[in-house]
Amino acid sequence: MRKRFCIGTTVLMTGLLLGGCLQRAVPPAAPPGTSPPPAAQPGGVPGPAPNAAHPTAPTPAYERDRPATPDLTGGPESQNRTARTTPREGTDPSRILYFSGPRTAKQVALTFDDGPDLRFTPQILDILKQNGVKATFFIVGTRAQAHPEMVRRIVAEGHAIGNHTWDHPKLTKLTPQQIRDEVVRTDQLLDSIVGYYPALFRPPYGLTNPDIVREIGAMGYKIIDWSVDTRDWAGTPVPQMMDYVRTELRPGAIILEHCAGGRSEDLSNTVSALPQIIDTLKAQGYTFVTVPQLLNIPAAKMSAE
Ligand SMILES: [Zn+2]
Repeated sequence: MRKRFCIGTTVLMTGLLLGGCLQRAVPPAAPPGTSPPPAAQPGGVPGPAPNAAHPTAPTPAYERDRPATPDLTGGPESQNRTARTTPREGTDPSRILYFSGPRTAKQVALTFDDGPDLRFTPQILDILKQNGVKATFFIVGTRAQAHPEMVRRIVAEGHAIGNHTWDHPKLTKLTPQQIRDEVVRTDQLLDSIVGYYPALFRPPYGLTNPDIVREIGAMGYKIIDWSVDTRDWAGTPVPQMMDYVRTELRPGAIILEHCAGGRSEDLSNTVSALPQIIDTLKAQGYTFVTVPQLLNIPAAKMSAE
């Protein structure tokens, strides 16, 4: 087994230093399209620049990208998730599953699931950068495979990453071996992209059971749940999202958001709410940290096993 970095901070700093070298300036070329969806262009248009009907308005990257961002195997978040009626905090007795961090400091961790894509993820990264905020991104393997340069950007800009399975199935419907395959395959891909194995895991739709927690824990992970749900997965309007955050927020909170959507999902409200969330929390004296910082746990582990 190769030796590798195992200290989260070191990994993140290394990523920060190397990111500029590794990151591609331009996403991999996709077939030029004049309108979404690109698949509706039988035969294509020979020669013309993208969006030739409006030469001053280049085709947005996310439109070129749409066919390349895979959908979630378990279905859209909006159709497979319900808000919890009872908020959860702290950790479970095994100290594998975490809902929030210590209440002793006014720290909070923003988390973004289901990325990366080329539509919402870059907008969220831009806002975080403008505000000097570091967050944690739970990455779907198929989407990392489609957009490795965006995973490199996330790490290069100082954010933590975690494993969010290969294709986002409902783990409670899989066999132990299938769960293991979902996790290890993603781990190996992320290692090949950023050079380390993340030590954080978040189950799709938040679905777990004691067996899954035990199995994932035995693979060297901490399972990161959340204590504040913005309900952005439901297309919640911005003012309502702000209400949820204000109501559920405590020191040590882990806030659930999303940074990528399938073809049927629109996370525009997430993008709109983010600057308000940051401003509101800063005004209340909170500082933003990554999940490994909040929980004082490693960001990386030694192997995919
Ligand atoms: Zn998810």
